[in-house]
Amino acid sequence: MISRKEAIALGGIQGKELDDLCEYASQVRDQTWGKQLTYSRKVFIPLTNMCRDRCGYCTFVKGPQSPEAQVMTETAVMHRVQQGEASGCREALFSLGERPEKRYPQLQHFLEHHGFRRLIDYLAHCAEQVLAKSTLLPHLNPGTLTRNELRQLKPVSASMGMMLESASQRLLRPGQAHHRCPDKVPNVRLKTLDDAGRLAIPFTTGLLIGIGETWQERIEALLLINALHQQHGHIQEVIIQNFRAKPGTAMAHCHEPDLDDMRRTLAVARLLLSPRISLQAPPNLHADYPAYIRSGLNDWGGISPVTQDHINPERAWPQIDHLATACQAQGYTLKQRLTVYPDYLKRPAFIQPLGPKLIAMSSQLNATDALNPIDQLTRGDGLSHDPHISHPMACTA
Ligand code: SF4
Repeated sequence: MISRKEAIALGGIQGKELDDLCEYASQVRDQTWGKQLTYSRKVFIPLTNMCRDRCGYCTFVKGPQSPEAQVMTETAVMHRVQQGEASGCREALFSLGERPEKRYPQLQHFLEHHGFRRLIDYLAHCAEQVLAKSTLLPHLNPGTLTRNELRQLKPVSASMGMMLESASQRLLRPGQAHHRCPDKVPNVRLKTLDDAGRLAIPFTTGLLIGIGETWQERIEALLLINALHQQHGHIQEVIIQNFRAKPGTAMAHCHEPDLDDMRRTLAVARLLLSPRISLQAPPNLHADYPAYIRSGLNDWGGISPVTQDHINPERAWPQIDHLATACQAQGYTLKQRLTVYPDYLKRPAFIQPLGPKLIAMSSQLNATDALNPIDQLTRGDGLSHDPHISHPMACTA
């Protein structure tokens, strides 16, 4: 493990120095997680792609005037969930923009028309339906939340998440990635992470690297996450996600982090964070699986055999068997996991009130332990083709 000062000094190392750092991080990973890497088989449920923020790199977000703006009806949600069940998924990942009803009356009308006051209430209802009517476990990603909202969502989710992305205040300034994004104020996000810990919610967070932060700011963000984990023990995984410059965004022409930057950040994260925090990088945002494995990660996150990655729709998911082969070539097995990590199943406060269901599902998963490489993972049919998805304007008409 390394100190803050040592981590800061590692910015920019390359060549043999970087190889040695990654080797050390891999050893630490192996000591804690063994020779097994994991992933969660999921369906992606983008409840709505409207959001009150405007991050400079985001292609997911649409305004209500856009023909691509949408909100999933409950029928659409359950249709997607059934597709996931049929494909062996165990996670329903709800992802949505931040408080869009505060910005767009059209969305507020949609919610009221369906009997809900806030988007969070609609999310809670949909997650409850998934739990009641399917075998999938909801993992909720609605962004920043108050403690009361977290309390409301905990009983209907197995785990929750929100990327910290960065703890840099500078990124809120004009011309920066988070300008005019009230939900990207670092202290607001850190408060959500803290409240989730106080409520014993198994929580996923992480960094989006390359959005204008300095190396030192990256280190400070990792240390803040780790400090909250030391206080509450609730950070089950940290994602290191690389920024991709996408056409049509304000940051379309910005420099993307290269592979060495990802390796360096993964390795330093592995050596700064508690070893029991799972370290993850999305496998669809870079093709060099061996380099990632040799940098200390132990998890590939959610992979969908049904739906495309709606945040990065241009990046196809890898086939699970292809990923498994890449892991094996490095001496690791690939195993499916639940959205909640096994450590938390031994801690009742973290899994109430779903404990018996989660423990039964974990036993079942272990019983069918062998990887089932059945999927031909392709980019899913986009939401715009799903007849169950409603445009909010249409819903209020
Ligand atoms: S990245 Fe998230 S918070 Fe930012 S605009 Fe897109 S949906 Fe909204």
